[in-house]
Amino acid sequence: MASIEMKNIVKQYGDGYPAVNDVSLDIADGEFMILVGPSGCGKSTLLRMIVGLEDITSGDMVIGGKRVNDLAPRERNLSMVFQNYALYPHMTVYENIAFPLRLSKTPDDEVRRRVTEASDVLELKEHLERKPANLSGGQRQRVAMGRAIVRQAEAFLFDEPLSNLDAKLRGQMRTEIARLQRRLGITTVYVTHDQTEAMTLGDRVCVLRKGSIQQVASPRELYEQP
Ligand code: ADP
Ligand code: ADP
Repeated sequence: MASIEMKNIVKQYGDGYPAVNDVSLDIADGEFMILVGPSGCGKSTLLRMIVGLEDITSGDMVIGGKRVNDLAPRERNLSMVFQNYALYPHMTVYENIAFPLRLSKTPDDEVRRRVTEASDVLELKEHLERKPANLSGGQRQRVAMGRAIVRQAEAFLFDEPLSNLDAKLRGQMRTEIARLQRRLGITTVYVTHDQTEAMTLGDRVCVLRKGSIQQVASPRELYEQP
């Protein structure tokens, strides 16, 4: 787990108005931070700069006390959870969770130990031999998070993970993500344009507008504003 510090982050595509314009934001170890704002305000660009999928034009990105500007995504040890969870349909739950460990050639007994531990925490033990197609949306989300846990990632990053779901499932998943994040206590950055998600999920909400931070506050502080 790690803190994420952004210092005067700028992202300039071409010569237009900067997509991200001098953003400074400290996210504490274990904190759940929401990035919210209208389409085009720079949320995804900021998230992609944290993960390393996008170069930073200027400023410093510091993760766990270490400057990561020049580190490739795989060297940052973060875990991005995608909209569709990016599970492999032909693999079982066990193999999906184990996948990052297979890539890093972790010995079999260590793989077994870590997958068992993760599936315990995530209440997936009874489903380890199933394929993703036979899981509920919530269970798929947990498998995606299981992958992040076995890798012992420093932080979770979500980019609008619920935007393709119907209202009922979205409500369930919101509860599930909030519960898991508290249980794991892992630093989380969550991008959304949904007001309900912004007001219910996080410890703090960072409101972006035209590439700049308009406000950073707890949901309660935002709610009580005139
Ligand atoms: P959001 O996620 O809040 O919808 P984005 O981060 O996707 O916003 O985009 C912020 C701004 O940067 C927008 O004006 C968008 O058009 C622009 N932008 C995003 N990606 C690129 C790109 N690859 N090249 C040029 N402009 C981009
Ligand atoms: P979303 O915000 O739903 O992810 P977008 O339409 O903003 O989708 O972006 C889709 C892709 O197009 C992204 O990879 C983004 O970087 C890129 N993109 C967005 N705006 C621009 C732009 N103005 N010029 C070039 N690429 C862009």
